[in-house]
Amino acid sequence: MVEVLEDEAGQLHLDHSGEGDEAEEDENPGPVRRVANTGSGPARNSAIADQVKAWHDDRCQIYGQTLTVAGGATFSQGAHIRGLGTPHSGPDTTSNVLCLCHNDHFLFDNGGYYIEDDFTVINAVTGASVGQLLRQRSHKISLDHIRYHRSLWKI
Ligand SMILES: [Zn+2]
Repeated sequence: MVEVLEDEAGQLHLDHSGEGDEAEEDENPGPVRRVANTGSGPARNSAIADQVKAWHDDRCQIYGQTLTVAGGATFSQGAHIRGLGTPHSGPDTTSNVLCLCHNDHFLFDNGGYYIEDDFTVINAVTGASVGQLLRQRSHKISLDHIRYHRSLWKI
């Protein structure tokens, strides 16, 4: 079993360890155990991600979709281009954050896409362009961070 884990820096990772496969199903397991956040990870300012999401109206910068649920609330995620945690040590600034849907955030963090200097988004599996990253004038994106992310994933 492969699990998706979110680390303290908000990066999504695949867990191939298979741990948890043998977890027994309790018929009445009760409430989920709460775990205190120890705060040992990098501090994150949710206002940064919120600003980026607001500039894009929760529209994913890769495919342009917005996740809208009953009642009309919309959802997106602030995706750090250069991860905040070790060893990447990226900054928590709007120029290092993209507004992505949940699926594309996961794919971006795990190398499903990289972005060229002209903001063409490339599917890293096929090498094909999936189009231009959708941008807003207010949202300056750091090419340094785009290049750093690309260096991790471009084969
Ligand atoms: Zn998306």
